[in-house]
Amino acid sequence: MRQTIVVGNWKMNASKETVNTLVLGVLEGMPDVKSEVIVCVPYPYLCQVEALVAHSQLKIGAQDLNVNASGAFTGEVSADMLKDFGSEYVIVGHSERRSLYGESDEMVAEKVQVALDNGLTPLFCIGELLEEREAGDTETVVARQINAVIKRVGIEVFKNIIIAYEPVWAIGTGVTATPQQAQDTHAYIREILAQSDADIAQSTPILYGGSMNSGNADELIACEDIDGGLIGGASLKSDDFLRICKVG
Ligand code: PEP
Repeated sequence: MRQTIVVGNWKMNASKETVNTLVLGVLEGMPDVKSEVIVCVPYPYLCQVEALVAHSQLKIGAQDLNVNASGAFTGEVSADMLKDFGSEYVIVGHSERRSLYGESDEMVAEKVQVALDNGLTPLFCIGELLEEREAGDTETVVARQINAVIKRVGIEVFKNIIIAYEPVWAIGTGVTATPQQAQDTHAYIREILAQSDADIAQSTPILYGGSMNSGNADELIACEDIDGGLIGGASLKSDDFLRICKVG
């Protein structure tokens, strides 16, 4: 039985004031939440969030990491720095990083490896563009993205990886994949993992992301192979986010 996991990705949205309001609001509702809940915080607010969530079940993640341990990499942040401020998770390969910052499958695979080597759990994002879905290439794309990581780190370490399937056409658009579309792809992702290890295919958490909100989370998370959500826009208001957290 896989546990439901709900992850908030705040992206580049926060201020000291909104962080306080949001985190305190989420913490207030946490006693009624059975799911594992993670908030992925912009770097400057990690320290503030670490203090706010101390002694609670709310976990901290970051939104990216640099593959180097330290040195002359102006503007970059290492795995050790993330851990220094309480991060246990890190988003890797989000479609915005793939498209806006040119991250290839191989670069994403290296980030997955560096996260794992440093004791961070990667929230490994995959998903197809609209034109790829329309061309019937969804399965080819997600297989390629996953196989790049298996090739680099092996299948065993998927015991410590959370996959997020995020169709790019659904991210931030208000267009959500139907439960059937999402379930079909999640089942296919398990098939790809099963080609290497059937047990790991069954135990790996696979979250759905792409305009999930408090109105559609129930029917998506009810699908057999959907183990929770990676939530962008709807994670910025504590009420909406908590409603999704309470689905699991
Ligand atoms: C995301 O950024 O990962 C995401 C799913 O965003 P949204 O929920 O806003 O579509």
